[in-house]
Amino acid sequence: IRVTGTPLGLEGEKSFGVLLIIEDITQLKKLENMRRDFVSNVTHELKTPLTSIRGFIDTLKNGAIKEEAVANRFLDIIDIEAERLSTLIQDILLLQEIESKRDYERLPLDINESVNAVIELLQPKITGDIEIVFKPQPYLKPFYCNPDRMKQLFINLLDNAVKYTEKGTITITLKEEEDNLVLGIKDTGIGIEKEYLPRIFERFYRVDKGRSRKQGGTGLGLSIVKHIVELYNGNIQVNSTLGVGTEFIITLPYNMGNKK
Ligand code: ADP
Repeated sequence: IRVTGTPLGLEGEKSFGVLLIIEDITQLKKLENMRRDFVSNVTHELKTPLTSIRGFIDTLKNGAIKEEAVANRFLDIIDIEAERLSTLIQDILLLQEIESKRDYERLPLDINESVNAVIELLQPKITGDIEIVFKPQPYLKPFYCNPDRMKQLFINLLDNAVKYTEKGTITITLKEEEDNLVLGIKDTGIGIEKEYLPRIFERFYRVDKGRSRKQGGTGLGLSIVKHIVELYNGNIQVNSTLGVGTEFIITLPYNMGNKK
């Protein structure tokens, strides 16, 4: 609580009272702290690949460049780290854009088609040990949304399912239920321990930082998913068992999507 006092009365005269302004700034403080945390997280996340890039450049300059095999290996690492920086910046910008809610575009989207396109897009990442099961729903109504946003939602969820599943099946389901579009993505991957579940939608939160990094993760994927779901007044549910698998269920109301 912030209290500001101003004496009441004419200048030079005895004041006859005090105007007290009492404000509840808890929310404001919270927002301020969140912003500060975000900036410090972003700075840290950007610095890590940059430090690595500069380190390898230094080593190359100090002589490693003369050994071709070593030089090539270092250049590959520099390439990967530069790619990481670029993904990170893209994700941060995307998150900002969705958060600012300036996004009123609503076009009818064929969800079956969009899911199929995303499966196609991620195909190079899908190894022979993973099977994707998706049966398009022939009678699905089009969903009114920004098609790029919806595609991003599918990409992030499917990309995670692929990243965190060594072998097994990823099942994608679509259905219409009480004027909601319900999307399910279920994998037979590593799973998430119960205590970590509430945190996975936080920005930059990863259960296993090393593993996520190795897979090119930014820790922003699910945070972006959550914001997109909120943009369409939907909700997201996650069930997971360590070592068994994870299931995300997204419910999006059609009427909200059709409004604009
Ligand atoms: P990341 O870029 O690290 O994948 P996300 O925000 O997409 O970031 O996910 C946050 C964390 O949630 C991941 O680091 C991972 O620990 C966990 N996670 C997300 N999806 C899955 C999944 N399908 N199976 C197991 N763990 C997952």
